Amino acid sequence: MIAGVDIGGTKIAVGVVDNNGHVLSRSECPTDAERGYAEALARIEHMLRPRAAAADTKVTGIGIGSTGPVDPFTGEFGEVNFFPAWRGENLVADLTRIFGVRVAMENDADAAALAEAAWGAGKDKKSLIYVTIGTGIGAGIVLDGRLYRGVGGAHPEIGHHVIDASGPPCMCGFHGCWESLAAGPAMVSWLESRMPIDYPHRDHLTAKRICELALSGDELAIQSVKREAHYLGLGLANLVTLFTPDAIVLGGSVMKSAILFLEEIRKTICRCCRFVPFDKTELALASLGEDANLIGAARVWHHRFAREGGQRA
Ligand SMILES: [Zn+2]
Repeated sequence: MIAGVDIGGTKIAVGVVDNNGHVLSRSECPTDAERGYAEALARIEHMLRPRAAAADTKVTGIGIGSTGPVDPFTGEFGEVNFFPAWRGENLVADLTRIFGVRVAMENDADAAALAEAAWGAGKDKKSLIYVTIGTGIGAGIVLDGRLYRGVGGAHPEIGHHVIDASGPPCMCGFHGCWESLAAGPAMVSWLESRMPIDYPHRDHLTAKRICELALSGDELAIQSVKREAHYLGLGLANLVTLFTPDAIVLGGSVMKSAILFLEEIRKTICRCCRFVPFDKTELALASLGEDANLIGAARVWHHRFAREGGQRA
């Protein structure tokens, strides 16, 4: 059995995942990055040991999916927005030492992409792009069951390709990258910039809340949803044109409201992708649910080690 460790900006989840991608046991805690890396490592250890016992099994490997940037080969954290002080810490080396098993780590979008390709909506697809739309936009590319890597193993930042160069600035250096226009916070800031002083839903706006308001007929929320669908569609149309993948799998918190966006996304792809067989690219919703990242973390181990010859992937 393989244990998965999913490290996000707000929470750390650990669990034991069987060879069919089913979670046998899990637990989670807040990331609390400010308490330091050593303390987080101790928490991971103390969550993992009872999980293995609860699953009544011996853990033979550990896979990690983490919000990035991370170095998939050295196992070191880069300068991660949510925990910059952990830079240079090596979770792969530490868990290898503590548990005495092989450990592999990937960016969390790559981990979820591997899981959807192996056990989820992308099963049996030769080429797949997984896109997660939530607080940010992340993506992972899987070709013939293998993760696509850039130079030096780098993870391509698909969420930061430019959609509108006159758009809002982003930490990535661009103006109007996809994430700045179409991630959940972009829905909120667009609506907040347009809401009248007497708008009754001013407080605690989130992308989820805006989607609920749109469904209940709120005109401003409906406009925000239309804008979101437009920008999602443009980014996805770019992916179809650039990669002509067999499938694009959509996940993340914003995609829980996919029913509001899919029609416009499909129209945009149809309108913009005339030079490629866009109708052959399947647009699917992620199928692994809330534990997709945890299942993905476990899949990272399989992808790295559970192949004939055990070559590094
Ligand atoms: Zn950006």
